[in-house]
Amino acid sequence: MSNIAQLTPATDNPESTPMIEVNDASRGLNYDENLLFEKERTDTPGVDLPELKGTKSRTGQATRKSIGLHQVSEPQVVRHFVRLSTKNYSIDSGFFPLGSCTMKHNPRLNEKLARLPGFAHIHPMQPESTVQGAFAVMHELQEWLGELTGLPGVCLTPAAGAHGELAGVMTIRRAHDEQGNDEKTVMLVPDSAHGTNPATAAMCGYSIRVIPTKETGRVTVEAFKEALYKVEADGKDVAGMMVTNPNTCGLFETDIADIVDLLHEAGGYFYCDGANFNALVGSIRPGDFGVDVMHLNLHKTFSTPHGGGGPGSGPICVAKRLKPYVPSPLVVKEGDTYRLERDGERPTTCGRLKGFQGQFGMHVRALAYMMSHGADGLKRVSEDAVLNANYIHAKLKDDYHSPFEGPVMHEALFTEKYQKEHGVTTLDIAKGLVEYGMHPMTVYFPLVVNGAMLIEPTETESKAELDRFILVMKKLAQDAKLKGADYFHTLPQSAPATRLDELKAAREPKLRWKKC
Ligand SMILES: *Cc1c(COP(=O)(O)O)cnc(C)c1O
Repeated sequence: MSNIAQLTPATDNPESTPMIEVNDASRGLNYDENLLFEKERTDTPGVDLPELKGTKSRTGQATRKSIGLHQVSEPQVVRHFVRLSTKNYSIDSGFFPLGSCTMKHNPRLNEKLARLPGFAHIHPMQPESTVQGAFAVMHELQEWLGELTGLPGVCLTPAAGAHGELAGVMTIRRAHDEQGNDEKTVMLVPDSAHGTNPATAAMCGYSIRVIPTKETGRVTVEAFKEALYKVEADGKDVAGMMVTNPNTCGLFETDIADIVDLLHEAGGYFYCDGANFNALVGSIRPGDFGVDVMHLNLHKTFSTPHGGGGPGSGPICVAKRLKPYVPSPLVVKEGDTYRLERDGERPTTCGRLKGFQGQFGMHVRALAYMMSHGADGLKRVSEDAVLNANYIHAKLKDDYHSPFEGPVMHEALFTEKYQKEHGVTTLDIAKGLVEYGMHPMTVYFPLVVNGAMLIEPTETESKAELDRFILVMKKLAQDAKLKGADYFHTLPQSAPATRLDELKAAREPKLRWKKC
């Protein structure tokens, strides 16, 4: 990897030709980027200046000892970080089919609006009268999210999807506590759930009862009933159920309405993990099929940047009867004036989750996205997302094993089954995609199938880009047959870092640089 050019000394007189090492090794315009510490040279000035000889401090202050930072010049520092920045793969540099993450294009209009001085330069402790416009944006966003989900109680503070789940389950917990439902100690969670679902329920003090989905990829009424009535004949120990819909296999939970009715009969609340709302937005309203609480990932469905690109935002939307319990503060409107709820104004709240009002910049971006699309545009978004995923599913299902019957929603699930016959695994296919300059899909998730490959194209990819991806995937399937595992284990060959020893990286991570 390290590509050090050396001039070979002339053989007749080795002393006459100096050895020159080209340390910032480059191939083409691709740099092998060492640590800054490794670039330092003792003969160049950097942060620590050499001690001055023959002078005496006249200020009387203690002299600072060397602080041990690397001795590199300003241009070296600038180049180092600029080069590192170009190694960052992002949705702005290429196709990013990471399933369950909805890595879609963030229209620059959103950025432009979030940077307006009236939004970007305000402070959360300014007097309310001076930030009425910001409150108006938040209030409008609350209204839009309430309308789109059919769940009118909207709290914008959670800072991510998982944080939204925490807010949602705390809301459920607070409601049960308030109603004296002490016997409700169990949360039902299907085995296909995103890991954050059971983790959240456990954090809120619930024990988890798992619903198996192996055969169909969906929660069936039978499996649900078995879990609901497992311990108590009327299911009175069940506080609620957390379901992702469409689920993490990319499938719509078709029995959901019946399941919700039975759950409600037993006094449980229905939590819908709405991270995959991109497949539904504008087409159906979860509140209409009985959802009580749902979080949304603004950084997925509503196009605000994520994955290293910015903070997330995971508002929750709840049914009217749960609104008294959501975290505070909500933005309220009185006449033409907006304000935040005051401390103690709503004693039933499950409390505060975050400093101030959440990720305000994301609220601006999300509202900009929604308003620029309009209701019809948002519907089109979800239709196109579903169409794109089905296109990929249809084109690749002869090359890759599809574990469940289609049609799919916004993502296509495959497994390594066919490639495994040639010793090639999901990880190998992922490395193959890197070789072709594409970010891999989500791998080994969901856990309900072996060697999962979860592909989410989103609506913002063109047909040409989808076709390019399909072609690469077909080529990899063909290479698996013709060239086998040995070839795949050499991939990627052209990336700055080639095949890594992932086990070693996990077991013996090098977290600190030591000067030898
Ligand atoms: C992304 C995702 C989450 C978590 O969202 P974060 O913002 O990463 O915390 C939860 N559930 C599902 C189904 C998701 O796809």
